[in-house]
Amino acid sequence: MIIYKDGNYLPEEQARISVFDHGFLYGDGVFEGIRCYNGRVFRLKEHIDRLYDSAKTIDLQCPITKEEMTEAICETLRRNNLTDAYIRPIVTRGVGDLGLDPRKCKVASVIIVAVTWGAMYGDLYEKGLRGVTVSIRRNPAECLPPNVKSLNYLNNILAKIEANYKGGDEAIFFDTNGYLSEGSGDNLYIVKNGEILTPPTLNNLRGISRMVLLEIARAHGIPVKEQNLGYFDIYTADELICTGTAAEVAPITWVDGRTIGSGKPGPVTIQLMAAFKTVTANEGYPINKK
Ligand code: PMP
Repeated sequence: MIIYKDGNYLPEEQARISVFDHGFLYGDGVFEGIRCYNGRVFRLKEHIDRLYDSAKTIDLQCPITKEEMTEAICETLRRNNLTDAYIRPIVTRGVGDLGLDPRKCKVASVIIVAVTWGAMYGDLYEKGLRGVTVSIRRNPAECLPPNVKSLNYLNNILAKIEANYKGGDEAIFFDTNGYLSEGSGDNLYIVKNGEILTPPTLNNLRGISRMVLLEIARAHGIPVKEQNLGYFDIYTADELICTGTAAEVAPITWVDGRTIGSGKPGPVTIQLMAAFKTVTANEGYPINKK
């Protein structure tokens, strides 16, 4: 495996970070998760824009331009002979000392890892996932905005741990006001009476798959509303859907012991899963530009 690190393409064993890197010490950095389908990187511009926006929010200067990042991502895929892959660009604050002060970190570090990663949830796309609402709340925007895709995913990991203990495939987060937020690594939607309802994005990550799902829904004439949702809406939904780059589009058919809708992936979910597949198979930034 070849890994990009600060301008170099290195074998995995040589791609190392310092124990004084603040990304490692404090989760001080940002990242992205991107998929490449059939030699085309899906929504690459949107992912790179989000990466730089995350960096800007935490006052982190990415040492390379967006154009250089684009090229480094494509070159990492080419060097690994990957045409279908999951890509993880990371920008860490870099090497400092054991104090918190980021001014001690003179230069940020950029790492890009690309791996083969098929359907994340295996046969659950047909069966449906088990969702568990978790007691831990999503970080509020006034603390660490969930819009920042930061290296500090402890809030998400705590949710995942709770879902694991309670027999769920995915955690369902609420925010500190009791409004539905997102999954531990995906955005959520309910389908009710033919409409798609999803929370506004102050309390969750502005998912790129979310943007795509809503585009597809509108193109198929399915009404979409962004509004605050609660437990009641989840339990009484006709269908429940989650989306993410890793998860893609997946049905949730059980939450906290309640069967959602028919207990099987519903017609709107199935339609959107198929349409999402078509879009990802046909769009994207080509890794081999003529
Ligand atoms: N929420 C969280 C917390 C995530 O980690 C992800 C995965 N990046 C998502 C939502 C979905 O975002 P996207 O569709 O851009 O992958």
